[in-house]
Amino acid sequence: MEERVSRRTLLAGAAGALALAGCGGPVTPVARAATTVPVLCYHDLRAWTARDNAHGRQLLVLPPDRFRAQLDTLAEAGFATISPDAYAAHVATGASLPDRPVLLSFDDSRGNQATEALPQLQARGMTGTFFVMTIVLDDPGWLSRDDLRRMADAGMTVAAHTYDHGRVDRYGEADWAVQLEQPREELERVVGRPVEHFAYPGGTWHPPALHRLAAAGYRSAYQLSAQPADPGVPLMTLRRVLVDSGWEGPTLLAAVEAARRPA
Ligand SMILES: [Zn+2]
Repeated sequence: MEERVSRRTLLAGAAGALALAGCGGPVTPVARAATTVPVLCYHDLRAWTARDNAHGRQLLVLPPDRFRAQLDTLAEAGFATISPDAYAAHVATGASLPDRPVLLSFDDSRGNQATEALPQLQARGMTGTFFVMTIVLDDPGWLSRDDLRRMADAGMTVAAHTYDHGRVDRYGEADWAVQLEQPREELERVVGRPVEHFAYPGGTWHPPALHRLAAAGYRSAYQLSAQPADPGVPLMTLRRVLVDSGWEGPTLLAAVEAARRPA
């Protein structure tokens, strides 16, 4: 998603092609962050319609039956879902993680994340992280504030994805408070818990945003890229991959393994 969202604009979802490079081989233990956790990024969980183009069908809109099959594949392969808190602690201090960690994330505040993702995750004892843009909350078809409270109460992580999906490399001075500080504060008021994790709209980060995020109270931030996290600021450039709707069974597991390359 390149442009900002107005209340009358249908959100097309995050832009950017997924280019999984070859697997990097075994993870080499280091003092900290021994494991790069695969972080999967979902958007819209619904049946395809005639309005969905090929890009959307591949990377942004996932029919529920395929979503459920992907969750089953991960569960059967022994993956354990983790929270951004756990991943941040691992990167910062080397805190331990489950043997096969995976982080499932959901962007852009689609209402079907409450009606599809939440119950399907709960049914499997999994957790998810919901990166919310606050402009659409309580609008028809989008997540409500009650949805966010239910998610948080169910052990999900509510995290920030700006106010209106404006990219961080395009902010003027006044935008930092509107896009970073105010959404975090609003989400904390809604869920009654700390909101400390962020996802870059469009997956794009740039250096001036890093200290702004820290100053606004965020502990970690997620890009959308197959590139490794920046070694100088790993917590603010954690990698995610867009989920491909064609991934099922072995192809899903191969993609997840490819995302485990060391940071
Ligand atoms: Zn987004």
